[in-house]
Amino acid sequence: MTAAPPHPPQPAPLLAVDRVSIDYRTADRVVRATHRVSFDVHAAERYILLGASGCGKSTLLKSIAGFIAPSEGEIRLDGRAVARPGPDRIVVFQEFDQLPPWKTVAENVMFPLLASRRAGRAEARERAHDVLARVGLARFADAYPHTLSGGMKQRVAIARALAMQPRVLLMDEPFAALDALTRRRMQEELLALWEDTRFTLLFVTHSIEEALVVGSRIGLLSPHPGRMRAEINSHGWDLSSMGSAGFQGAAQRIHRLLFDEPAGGAADDAAQDGGIAGGEAAGEATAAGRSNAGLRRIA
Ligand code: ADP
Ligand code: MG
Repeated sequence: MTAAPPHPPQPAPLLAVDRVSIDYRTADRVVRATHRVSFDVHAAERYILLGASGCGKSTLLKSIAGFIAPSEGEIRLDGRAVARPGPDRIVVFQEFDQLPPWKTVAENVMFPLLASRRAGRAEARERAHDVLARVGLARFADAYPHTLSGGMKQRVAIARALAMQPRVLLMDEPFAALDALTRRRMQEELLALWEDTRFTLLFVTHSIEEALVVGSRIGLLSPHPGRMRAEINSHGWDLSSMGSAGFQGAAQRIHRLLFDEPAGGAADDAAQDGGIAGGEAAGEATAAGRSNAGLRRIA
């Protein structure tokens, strides 16, 4: 008999990003955008990639979508390596105001199904009506986009993605260009929609507040190249907790984790592999990550 493994096997994550480095090759040099980033996303999670501009968030999302191949490491969906774009990973762009205005809501939702030949007209219509009912827009199936509010247009854009039945929805700073009030309304809409349909979301932002509000878990990326610094559970926060002392404290803790230099200021490989110590935040570590040596997981 063989010895039992030291730990029982973990349930496989829906999406596994496993020590992924991504490089851009320009004419005269190679730019490393992310360095050995690892994280897992489980079904129905709202996982946030949070980091300053230029830390490689969009690059990671594009790689997960299958548009850029990692230089090292692997991205797996349902245990299978991602090699190219596919309908199991749909990117929802900042397109809420770019729904073709001459198509009705239902026609907008049907369009990708028809264009990708994943469904014929009858099935596409059926799926569109089904998904519009799920996002609370059944009554608006025959309306035109200009008659909808911004939040409803977002629902249509997400319904259109959900009709393709992806395993994971990818959103890259979808609200970054909006004014503060509209942004909050869109966050509220997104969370309400998630409550109803429980899709799996991977959402990129550089806003700490947005990460806390939208996410159930946050991966913190440090810049140049992007490395996973910590993971934080954030399911306890929502729009109603904004401004509370606890929320402000969580935001400040994330800020420190993102911007404090490791002890000695050496953000080198030793720090990466041996743990990012130092700073006031060091005491907040609870456990080392499974695949990011030194990654802090904070409840
Ligand atoms: P973020 O989305 O976090 O702002 P990006 O993923 O867009 O960051 O970029 C990460 C790094 O990769 C940056 O340093 C950026 O300048 C570089 N980069 C992004 N796209 C390209 C490209 N097409 N060619 C060369 N470098 C790029
Ligand atoms: Mg970006």
